[in-house]
Amino acid sequence: MLVVMKNDANEEQVQAVIEEIKKMGYRGVPMPGAQRTAVCIIGNKGPVEAMQLLAMEGVKEAIPVTKPYKLVSRETHPDSSIISVGDVKIGAGEPVVMAGPCAVESEEQALTIAGLVKEHGAKVFRGGAFKPRTSPYSFQGLGEKGLKILQKVRQETGLLVVTEATDNENLTVVEKYADIIQIGTRNMQNYSLLRLAGQVSKPILLKRGFAATIDEWLMAAEYIMSEGNNRVILCERGIRTFSDNTRNTLDLSAIPSIKEASHLPIIVDPSHAAGRRDYVIPLSKGAIAIGADGLLVEVHHDPSHALSDGIQSLYPQQFEELMGEIERLKQYL
Ligand code: PEP
Ligand code: MN
Repeated sequence: MLVVMKNDANEEQVQAVIEEIKKMGYRGVPMPGAQRTAVCIIGNKGPVEAMQLLAMEGVKEAIPVTKPYKLVSRETHPDSSIISVGDVKIGAGEPVVMAGPCAVESEEQALTIAGLVKEHGAKVFRGGAFKPRTSPYSFQGLGEKGLKILQKVRQETGLLVVTEATDNENLTVVEKYADIIQIGTRNMQNYSLLRLAGQVSKPILLKRGFAATIDEWLMAAEYIMSEGNNRVILCERGIRTFSDNTRNTLDLSAIPSIKEASHLPIIVDPSHAAGRRDYVIPLSKGAIAIGADGLLVEVHHDPSHALSDGIQSLYPQQFEELMGEIERLKQYL
C-alpha cells in the first residue's frame, strides 16, 4: 500500500502517517517525489485497511501496490532514480562507463589500466580485490592489499572505484575503500549479505543472478532497500541458457523490463556475458542504444598475462574504439 500525500502536505503530517503505520504494526517508508511525498507501507503480509490513514491530515489517497517488491517498484516511485556517487550521476541520461581489469593484480597493473580507461572517458575504475572464483585453485584476489591499491588509483586518477564484497566478513573492509560496492552474480540471493549491504553508507551495484528472473532480482534489491540503502544500481551480466556460444547469454530485454518495473538505474556488463572480447563492443552498443544507464567493462593492458578473465578483457585500443562508438550513439539517445 502506498499512502500518497497531498502536494502541500507538511513534514509533520508525513511523520504522523509514519507513526500511525507503526501503530498498525507495519513500517512506513517515506518516498519523496518531484510533486509530492508518498509513504510506502512495508511489513504487511496481506491487504492493509486504509480507512484511518485516509482520514488523516495531508493524505490524498491510498493505492494498493500490486507487485511483491515495493521500494524498488516504479509504482511507488514513478520518477527514475538518479544515483549520485561523488560527482558521477548514474541514471541521469548520460551513460556512465565503469572499466578496468577483472582483478587488481598489482599497483603497477591497476594504475596503468586506470590511466588508460580514464584517458578515454571512463568515470569509474573496476577491479576485484576479493574474487569469487569457480575453482578454489584459481587466483582469489589480493584482498585488503588490493583495496589499498584501489585507494591509490582513486588518489592518483580521481576515478571512483567499484569493487566486490564476496561475503559478510569482507563487506566491512570493502565499504571502507570502495565508492560503489559490487554484489556479484553468485551472491544475488545471499540474503544475509543483502541485508548488510542495506546498512552500509555506499551505493550497491547488484548484479543479476545467473539464473535469476527479473522478479527475483528485484526482490534482492528490495532486501537492500528495505534496510535503508536507497542507492542501488542493477547490472545485467548475462544468464545461463542452453546457448553455449557465449559464456552467458546477455539478456538485453532485461533493460526495458527493469525500466518498466523499477525506478532503479540499470547498467550492462557485456564482458561476463560474452566471455570473449570480440563481442563486447557490439553488445555494449546494443545495451546503450536500448537505454542502459551505463556499462561495466573489463579492460587489460596485457590480457594474455591477466590473472583472471584475460580472454574477455578488451585491449586498450578496443576500449578507445568502444568509447568512440558510445559517443556517436549519444546523439540518438
Ligand atoms: C566481476 O564483475 O568481477 C564478476 C565476478 O562478475 P559476476 O559476478 O557477474 O560473475
Ligand atoms: Mn571477471
